Amino acid sequence: MVVAVGLVSLHAPAASAAPVAAAAVRTLTYNASGAAEFKAAVDQGAQVWNSSVVNVRLVSTTSSSANIRIVADNGWPRAQPTSLGSGQVWMGRQATAEGHDPVRIAAHELGHILGQPDRKPGPCTSLMSGSSAGTSCKNPYPNAREKSEVEAAFRSAKVGAAGEWARVFVD
Ligand SMILES: [Zn+2]
Repeated sequence: MVVAVGLVSLHAPAASAAPVAAAAVRTLTYNASGAAEFKAAVDQGAQVWNSSVVNVRLVSTTSSSANIRIVADNGWPRAQPTSLGSGQVWMGRQATAEGHDPVRIAAHELGHILGQPDRKPGPCTSLMSGSSAGTSCKNPYPNAREKSEVEAAFRSAKVGAAGEWARVFVD
């Protein structure tokens, strides 16, 4: 038993581990060309996720076949995931007009696309507490739980059951 464990350990080549790790990182493209004045905030929100998790990476594109489409409108910010890592985000101007932070909004809505639910009411340390944290909250970073859940979702690469998707998260 001890010998077997030792052999497994000794003979597990680094070369076999590397491709597995690389394959686990899922790249998602987002097209924010319709995000108008929120384009920079969306890019920052995407970078927040890129610096917070390793199993998924958000990359900007102008392609119409992007995984995530992000537009601006005059409503309340919302997201409609169609599957894990795909869907649409509306950067509604109503929230920024009331004083909510656009980068936090962008990161929050992208969080929905990455499989996160709303967690309201909640503290500013929670990204998914959304507007419930108040207009003074400008934190765009997911907390430890939110990060670990996104990591787990993309590590397992499980696609949610059909009923979980296509609902619209308002806020
Ligand atoms: Zn939300």
